[in-house]
Amino acid sequence: MAFVEFRDVRKVYRMGEVEVAAVDGMTFDIERGELVVVVGPSGAGKTTLLNMLGGMDACSSGTIMLDGREISAFSEKELTYYRRYDIGFVFQFYNLVQNLTALENVELASQICKDPLDAGTVLKQVGLGHRLDNFPAQLSGGEQQRVAIARALVNSPAVLLADEPSGNLDSHNRDEIHRLFFELRDRLGQTIVIVTHDEHLAAMADRRITMSDGRIL
Ligand code: ADP
Repeated sequence: MAFVEFRDVRKVYRMGEVEVAAVDGMTFDIERGELVVVVGPSGAGKTTLLNMLGGMDACSSGTIMLDGREISAFSEKELTYYRRYDIGFVFQFYNLVQNLTALENVELASQICKDPLDAGTVLKQVGLGHRLDNFPAQLSGGEQQRVAIARALVNSPAVLLADEPSGNLDSHNRDEIHRLFFELRDRLGQTIVIVTHDEHLAAMADRRITMSDGRIL
């Protein structure tokens, strides 16, 4: 059994009379410790796929397994714990709390984890040991995204999910963030799934899931 398994997963959104199959029957595996990219045009269903794996959205049919557990059969309560304890999520626009320091942003997230890592240690791991007491406005975009990645790692997630994590960065910071993801895979054995438009990153990934109209190409 693979670490992550999607089996004929569909997600249908209903808006009045209209049905949109955002994900339309996807089957794939992800192994533990892989860095996987999800690529495809806008509207292909990439974010929907990520949100279902992250327990933020339920599938309409099919089966989603993670480490032998059937996520797609979880109750709302089980999904809440799954999001807190098993998943790390990184967004394009960092979503940091502006009046908290880098350290406090990570500590805040650690307060809802079961056995959180030390916030300062995780920030050092992502190369921000010298920035613990800085506010987001005092950090570059790349540094802010590092804080967001540290925040996502503080619960030692089974899977780190990232939706266009370098979409808002210049080329230098983008390359640095991509390097960090590969470091996390190599040093921690972290399983990582990244939605991206970046061809360079996609070319270096262990696995590429190319989507179009809710399906795998
Ligand atoms: P991508 O991330 O590849 O741009 P999305 O997963 O955001 O694609 O969207 C896939 C399709 O599902 C699009 O047609 C989008 O309009 C639709 N969709 C996504 N979320 C919703 C929603 N909450 N309600 C209705 N339609 C949605």
